[in-house]
Amino acid sequence: MQLGYSYKLKPSQRQQAVMNRWLDMLRAQYNYLLRDRNDSYDQAKAPRLGNYCDFKSGGEACPLTCSVSKNHSVGYPWKKSQKNPRRNAYEAQSSNLPILKKERPWYKSIHSTVLQQTLRQLDVAFAKFFKGETGYPKPKRRSRFRSFKYAPGQVKLNGNKIYLPGIGWIGFHNSRPIPDGFALKSVTVRRKARGWFASLQIEDKSVPPAPVKNNTEIDPLKVCGCDLGINKLVSLSNGKTIANPAKQKAFRRRERRLKLRQKTASRKRKGSSNRKKSYSKVASLHERITNNRSAYHWDVANQLVDGADALVFEDLNIKGMKSRCKPKPNEKGGYDRNGQSAKRGLNRSISNAAWGELVKKVEVVAAKSGIPVVKINPKYTSQKCPKCHHISKSNRKKEKFVCTECGYHDDADVNGAVNIKLRGLKKLGIDPTQLPPVRGKVTPTEITVS
Ligand SMILES: [Zn+2]
Repeated sequence: MQLGYSYKLKPSQRQQAVMNRWLDMLRAQYNYLLRDRNDSYDQAKAPRLGNYCDFKSGGEACPLTCSVSKNHSVGYPWKKSQKNPRRNAYEAQSSNLPILKKERPWYKSIHSTVLQQTLRQLDVAFAKFFKGETGYPKPKRRSRFRSFKYAPGQVKLNGNKIYLPGIGWIGFHNSRPIPDGFALKSVTVRRKARGWFASLQIEDKSVPPAPVKNNTEIDPLKVCGCDLGINKLVSLSNGKTIANPAKQKAFRRRERRLKLRQKTASRKRKGSSNRKKSYSKVASLHERITNNRSAYHWDVANQLVDGADALVFEDLNIKGMKSRCKPKPNEKGGYDRNGQSAKRGLNRSISNAAWGELVKKVEVVAAKSGIPVVKINPKYTSQKCPKCHHISKSNRKKEKFVCTECGYHDDADVNGAVNIKLRGLKKLGIDPTQLPPVRGKVTPTEITVS
């Protein structure tokens, strides 16, 4: 089993200076390697060479000149293997590393596995791009390049101290003891607004990952449909609800404080150290809000997984939900109100709820106990009657769901969750007719999360 534990470091001034210098050099190297891939791609698609690889189809017209996935101008392109003699970009750039180190002797001060991991970082960025998960890798600014990584077997731990090769022994806040039997794997050091942090990947090979339950082991009564929302963060198919912390006073207060700090910072003279200080305060508050939210999400995730056999979520298109309203041009050559200013508030609420992050955490917690997490198409889940399957917009009246055909009624969010559950059961291959008849009237009860 693999786990990730994160600790706050207590580096000395000298150690901080070293880590900051490393980050600058590693960023230069990352951007240099990206430039190399871009340049070689541009050269390969020069018209005299004819075809080049096609982004959309992923087809390679000419393997010798095709680029980005394979191309690079630094490094030696061939290896001994008979089957696949051409090095990929990562391997070739890696073969260039000793030459680069000679050209830039200052790179010697960086630990070798850290330097190597930067190549891997770029390769991962490209792999994600080719899978369609992210955009094309961009050169990184200082504010976007904040971490470096050690390969497994380099870092040592001793009590409240951690040994980072090239930097030395650093004390850390041992907020959470590493469980017995776990060995240290890779370690990532990260610069954040509130200090330096180390994320440790730890692994215990003797504990196999929990097997995921199959549909014969799942009790349909213990399958839980989860409707994500804003007024209530989660509404469950069993009638329980979980509050949204973004609707609470403490969060509102922090939002107000953030706004004030942003305003103060933006009024400081550009390039001044006061502006810098002000913005670091903004960043620090941002980080606190994120930390609080993430702690709450972990609590919610544990609550949801506890006692469930399977969890069903909607597969939401959050980006689409946050899209802007279409402009409404009028005859006078101007624009009519299109409701964007109201939509802005909703968009912010969607961002603050951070549903995607919550679902990711639920998946992590569920995987530990082998509970499947199913995602279903959310279409009509709020308009469908679970009893007679009648679909109509007029079924839903704000907080209430009343079927215009059969008169079945329920809380609107809970009804959505019931529909989500039914769809999830179908996807899991369980017959929902085994269930007792759908619940009648229900009064939502709130689960309290610490
Ligand atoms: Zn009905």
